[in-house]
Amino acid sequence: MTQNKPAYYDENNIFAKMLNGDIPHHKVYEDEKTLAFMDIMPQAEGHVLVIPKQKAVDLADLEPEYAAAVLMTAKKVMNAQRQVFAREGIIQMQLNGAQAGQTVFHYHIHLIPGSIHELGVHAAKMADNDKLADLAQRLAAVIDTP
Ligand code: AMP
Repeated sequence: MTQNKPAYYDENNIFAKMLNGDIPHHKVYEDEKTLAFMDIMPQAEGHVLVIPKQKAVDLADLEPEYAAAVLMTAKKVMNAQRQVFAREGIIQMQLNGAQAGQTVFHYHIHLIPGSIHELGVHAAKMADNDKLADLAQRLAAVIDTP
C-alpha cells in the first residue's frame, strides 16, 4: 500500500537536515533561495538534485518566488552538466506523492544527464563517495555563481 502525502512538512526529513547543516552533501551550487547537490543514489552519472529553502512537501506547496528560484538554479545546473558531460540530453524529473515514487518529502527537481530510454532504477544504488565529490567539484567549477 502506498503512503499518502504527509499532512505536514516533516522538519526531520533528510533534505531539511541538509539545509540545517546536520548531514553532509556534495554541493554543486547554493544561493539565497536554493541548494543543488549530488544525488547519493544516481540514476545516471552526474545526477543532481535542486531544492528550495522553503518547507514545501511537493509542487502544491511551492511559493512562486521559490518556484522561480529552483527553476533558475535547475537551468544553471543543466548548463553545467551539458558542459561537463559534453551531452545535450538532460532529464528534468520531479515526483509528487509516494504514489508517484517520491521518497523524500521536501520538494526537489532531479536533473539527470541521460536518456529516458536508459534511466537507472530510482534511488536504488549508492554511488562512490569520492566519485560524487569529484563530480560535484567539476560541476561547481563551471556553474554561474550568484
Ligand atoms: P524522490 O524519490 O523523488 O523523493 O527522490 C529522492 C532522491 O533523494 C533519490 O533520488 C535519492 O537517491 C536521493 N537521496 C536520498 N538521500 C540522499 C542524501 N542523503 N543525499 C543525496 N541524495 C539523497
